[in-house]
Order: sequence, then structure tokens, then C-alpha cells
Amino acid sequence: MPVSVKNILDAKGRDVMSVSREKTVAEVAAILAENKIGAVVVTSLEGRIAGIFTERDLVRVVAADGADGLQKPISSGMTANVIRCREDTSLNELMETMSTGRFRHIPVEEGGKLVGIISIGDVVKARIREVEAETEHMMAYIAG
Ligand code: AMP
Repeated sequence: MPVSVKNILDAKGRDVMSVSREKTVAEVAAILAENKIGAVVVTSLEGRIAGIFTERDLVRVVAADGADGLQKPISSGMTANVIRCREDTSLNELMETMSTGRFRHIPVEEGGKLVGIISIGDVVKARIREVEAETEHMMAYIAG
């Protein structure tokens, strides 16, 4: 069975750091630092995905506006057109999407609600496990 987003979430959990669009860039920078994460998902009051803001966006805001940018709302620097996946999305599809889209985070959405997030670190970990399992199978097969 190919590895899916559900398998990854079952192993790592479904907690996602989400913020409202009014939070300032400085507040979100503190959240990223405190939680040692690279991205937050911006959600509406109903829990729908409204955007994503990552450390890349933080760098872009500071490069463009300097310290003034830190007091702006996160909505001014986030990416609003968020590419999402579902629990049944395969590991291969995740790798393809991250590689072609050139981003390292994909929120998981089910029934219009945010239910998890996959980072490139999760993808690498899952792929290593998959390769190890494949190798074990081959060795067992060869050993007869
Ligand atoms: P990252 O590599 O995840 O730090 O993101 C690089 C850029 O892509 C940033 O501008 C993000 O806002 C944007 N980005 C990250 N994840 C996604 C996503 N799933 N869909 C659309 N844009 C994204």
C-alpha cells in the first residue's frame, strides 16, 4: 500500500498552528520561533484556510519594508492561494506538488476544514521509512 497523508498524520499528529489574518507579522514571527516551525496557516473564524505564511514570507516582508513591516497584518504578506491536500493524497503526489510548487508546506483539508499540515521534513522522514521497508521486503524475498 502506498504511503498516504493519513499515515503521516497518524504518526506525527494533527496539531496545526493557525492564526487569524489580523495577527501582526511580529506576532507570527514570535509564534514561528517559539514553536520551532516554519509556517502557520491563516484561518477564518469558521476554521477555513485563508492563507499560509512561512519564514520565506517573513524574509520578504523584512527585505521590502524593514522594521515597519513587522507591525503589518499577516494578511498583507501571506500567500492566499493555498495548495492543499487530503488525507488520501499519496506521498508521491506530495513530493511532486512540493517540488513543482517550490514550497515546503501543504495544509491538509477535509470537508472544508484544516485537519493537519505536512512539511518537507515529514515527507523526507516518510520516504526514508518507505525505502527501508522496501529494502527489507527485497532482502526477505532474496533470502527466500
Ligand atoms: P515554504 O517553502 O513553505 O517556506 O514557502 C515558500 C513560499 O511558498 C512562501 O511564499 C509561502 O507562502 C508559499 N507557500 C508555502 N506553502 C504553500 C502552499 N501549500 N500553497 C501555496 N503557497 C505556499
